Amino acid sequence: MNYKRLRQGMVKDQLIARGISDERVLAVFYKVEREKFVPSDLRKDAYGDFPLSIGEGQTISQPYMVALMTQSLELKGCERVLEIGTGSGYQTAILTELSEQVYSVERIKSLAQKAESLLKKLGYSKVKTFVSDGTMGWEEFSPYDRILVTAGAKQVPQPLVNQLKDEGIMVIPVGNVYSQELRVIRKKKGRVRSTTVERCIFVPLIGKYGWSENVGAE
Ligand code: SAH
Repeated sequence: MNYKRLRQGMVKDQLIARGISDERVLAVFYKVEREKFVPSDLRKDAYGDFPLSIGEGQTISQPYMVALMTQSLELKGCERVLEIGTGSGYQTAILTELSEQVYSVERIKSLAQKAESLLKKLGYSKVKTFVSDGTMGWEEFSPYDRILVTAGAKQVPQPLVNQLKDEGIMVIPVGNVYSQELRVIRKKKGRVRSTTVERCIFVPLIGKYGWSENVGAE
C-alpha cells in the first residue's frame, strides 16, 4: 500500500477540493501518517472519505472534518489548545504540529492509553493527556487560547466557555445525537459570538454538561 500517494490524494481530492486553503493546515495533512492511528485491519481505508471505527463504539473522524475543525481554529503556532475527545490521537497530532502545547482529555481510559503511547512513539511527547469528563474542561492549565471538542454536544458546556481565554476561539459540534452543526465560538470582552460552519455527525459528548451515558440506547 502506497500510503504517501493515498495521503496526497486525500489532501487534493477531499481537502483542497472542498475549500481547505490554510497552507499550514494542508502541510500537516501531507505529513501526519493517518494509517498509524487506525486499527490495523482498517489501514487500507485510512485515507477514505469517511470516519472509521477505533473500538469502544468510537470513531476517528473523516479527514475533511478534522481539517475543517483545524482550519477553523486559526492556529498560528503560539497557542495553548485544549482538545476534548482524544480518541485515536490523530487530531491531537495535527494540533500538536500547529500549536505551542496541546492538552487532550478523553473519557475512555483504554483509548486514552493507546493514543498516549502512540503519540509518544511518533515523537509527539509534549502532549498532555488526561482521562476525565471533558465537559468539565481541564481547569488546572486553563485558560486556553483555543478549545476543540471532537464529540457532539447538546449544548456548549459552560466550564469550557469559562476556560477559554478572551480573544480565544472554540470549535464544537452542537445539536442532537444524530446530527449537529459545527460552531465556531469567539470570546471577546467576556461575551461570546457563535457562527455555524457546516452540518456534521459526531459520536455523542457524554458527561455532566453533555449527554447521559445510555444516550441512543433506548
Ligand atoms: N478526535 C478523535 C475523535 C474521536 S471520537 C479522532 O479523530 O480520533 C470522539 C471521542 O470523544 C471519543 O473517543 C469519545 O470517547 C470522546 N468523548 C466523548 N465524551 C467525552 C467527554 N465528556 N470527555 C472526553 N472525551 C469524550
